[in-house]
Amino acid sequence: MNKWQALGTVGVAGSQGTRLDLWRRHRLWFVAESGYLIDGFEHRPGVHPWQGEHLGKWLHAATLAWRMTGDERLAAALHDNVERLLATQLGDGYLGTYAGDATFVARPENVTVADPHDDTDVANAKRRGIGWDTWTHRYNLYGLLTYERFFPNEAVVDACRRMADLLIEVYGGGGADLTNYGTRKGISATTLLESIVMLHERTHDAKYLDFAEHIVERMEANPALRLMSSLLKGGGVVHPGEGKGYQLMANLLGYLGLYRCTGKSEYLRTAVNGWTEIREKHLLVTGGPWTRHTDYNGNRECFARTEDFDPGEVSVEGCCDATWIQLCLHLFEVLGESKYLDAAETTLYNSLHGHQHPDGIQWCYFTAPNETKPRYGDTIHCCASSMPRAMEMQAAHLAGEIDGHLAIGTLAPCSVALSEAFGGGALSVESDFPADPTTEIRFEPQSGRTYTCEFRLPAGVKLHRVAVNGEKAAIALNRRGFYELRRRWDRGDVLAIEAESTLRAHTQVGEHGRWVAFTKGSIALAQQVSSAPDDEPFDGRQPEEALAMLEQSADGSIRIGDTGIALMPYHLACTDDSGPRTYFRCG
Ligand SMILES: [Zn+2]
Repeated sequence: MNKWQALGTVGVAGSQGTRLDLWRRHRLWFVAESGYLIDGFEHRPGVHPWQGEHLGKWLHAATLAWRMTGDERLAAALHDNVERLLATQLGDGYLGTYAGDATFVARPENVTVADPHDDTDVANAKRRGIGWDTWTHRYNLYGLLTYERFFPNEAVVDACRRMADLLIEVYGGGGADLTNYGTRKGISATTLLESIVMLHERTHDAKYLDFAEHIVERMEANPALRLMSSLLKGGGVVHPGEGKGYQLMANLLGYLGLYRCTGKSEYLRTAVNGWTEIREKHLLVTGGPWTRHTDYNGNRECFARTEDFDPGEVSVEGCCDATWIQLCLHLFEVLGESKYLDAAETTLYNSLHGHQHPDGIQWCYFTAPNETKPRYGDTIHCCASSMPRAMEMQAAHLAGEIDGHLAIGTLAPCSVALSEAFGGGALSVESDFPADPTTEIRFEPQSGRTYTCEFRLPAGVKLHRVAVNGEKAAIALNRRGFYELRRRWDRGDVLAIEAESTLRAHTQVGEHGRWVAFTKGSIALAQQVSSAPDDEPFDGRQPEEALAMLEQSADGSIRIGDTGIALMPYHLACTDDSGPRTYFRCG
């Protein structure tokens, strides 16, 4: 039911390509060779409650990396990991990392809805020894089904069926209540929804779709979870599942998948309403979904009300960046609207890249918009395993086909294979994006074709002129937010887009103040600081006055009037010795 079909990305250059290569050349192998991915399965019990998630996440990201690079060593590592994982599946289908008496089969309901505890409290989770076992199965299914899409193998599908059949045996029909498993009112456990839908899409077996809808029924029957009815009635994302950001967005992915399979509009509206709510109330100017611990939610990874915004107190979990990007990209596939790519791109180029250390190994679990020292580390944690998945997915969504049009979703330098409908061959995008959005798109089809080509302007970019082979071209903005022109496209044709990144001010209001932050085009700006600043350059000034104080030099550098403060891209302010000051107090 996707409207949009991706064209194969051949290569990604520029800063997106550099960041992608950092993961592919370093972290990907660092994790693969750590032993940590498979150890928990081969030597049960694992050493960490959610150790099992990392292999599935790695299979997802590494498979997409292989698809673009064709790296044979990587293919061998993928096959080896899949083979070893499948070899640890028990006779009943169980494929987790828990000891026999602690599995979801042995203890299918491990929390009452009223039992409060913090799921970031690893010591507590270890003591309990339970709570994340269905979660591991969610990621096994996700990773294996992604792998199998490119390396068809019935044994893999069979292993997935057996996992799901065991889950159905325990949680299906009148069985145990999945929302009584795990943490945060079951919202971690119900992320299974998306994976079960994926299995249905692969097998077309109705029992998996039935189970997915059964999970929805269980969620709706739990007043503390009830995500769909809450979002359909205009409710927010702070209450369901205690607003646990990462998991809540992962559940929205499940609803979107259900829409793809059933066409039921309430599932799509749930995902769209959740997306809109997060977009309007819970994103930083960096595109990072911000969360904060308050007295009405569970921990610092939970969404908070907008009045509780404070740049010194909020943080962004890397998994939230990654899952938000996934949600944007999957909504884009279904609806084809440019706003979803705008949002994904903003998060990738700012918040997500800010989490990634330039050594290619280290990542931050949390970042904050205003901090002096991001905490990079090489630990294998949820976020470092999630973020490469989003990077790879974004790289696979650069251009595609929709309504018979060739839709170019990025101005970033890359090359994409053209399908037969567009004459075969390739297309290359040449630019210095995101530093400069002016772009040339070169068509290199094997044979010319007449069709509508459409392109999208990134957030904060102003269009000046469009030309084809040097001659000004008339374009029209379509209802999905893309600019389109129809003509015959031949080998050697060049579509030139002359555009400019604009400086914009963004105001954020909380109970304890008003803050202003700035963007230039898609890039969030920040002051680089190594200690807490004690000056307030915009004290008492309105955001528009603050914006007017910014001075751009010919070399592109930006200063705040005569204060001596320079602004730079947010993610470049994040280093071992410095952090960003993204939000400034204003009047
Ligand atoms: Zn995480």
